[in-house]
Amino acid sequence: MKRIAVDMDGVLADVYSQFDRYYTEETGKVMKHEDTIGRPEGEAFPNALDYVNSPGFFRSAPLMAHGQRVLEKINQQYQLFIVSAAMEFPNSLGEKQAWLNEHFPFITWRQMVFCGSKDIIKADIMVDDHFRNLDVFTGTTYLFTQPHNQLRDPGIHTRVDDWLQLEKLLLS
Ligand SMILES: [Mg+2]
Repeated sequence: MKRIAVDMDGVLADVYSQFDRYYTEETGKVMKHEDTIGRPEGEAFPNALDYVNSPGFFRSAPLMAHGQRVLEKINQQYQLFIVSAAMEFPNSLGEKQAWLNEHFPFITWRQMVFCGSKDIIKADIMVDDHFRNLDVFTGTTYLFTQPHNQLRDPGIHTRVDDWLQLEKLLLS
């Protein structure tokens, strides 16, 4: 059975919807989607760090479309690990665990890897939205499209725009 490492933020969890929501709550304005494309999250949303450090940010993140259903199938055909560099925001660990337990009850605690650098991760396949994680990975890499990476050439990585594409590529 092949081992697959799946990221949370920007892959399973729709963090841009959270950024949008927090931005509107803070400023009363609506962020235009086109203004987030091709820019790092912290540049598109200048107070992104405050948002992610707010209690509840990760716990209340919406789901990426089709992620639950496709991941459940992946869990049956692969050795699945959820890999999140959660140490960047230490207060997020409990929230992320609770979020996974609620939305992905088929994932056990042994499959949750909350880490610092993802350089240490060894698997056959990685799904992530950040080049910094994929570039150092030795297996097959899928770049999950998010506004911050949307304009970049995926290079050696395979770009996927949503979970339906991943379903076709991983489960056909
Ligand atoms: Mg991510």
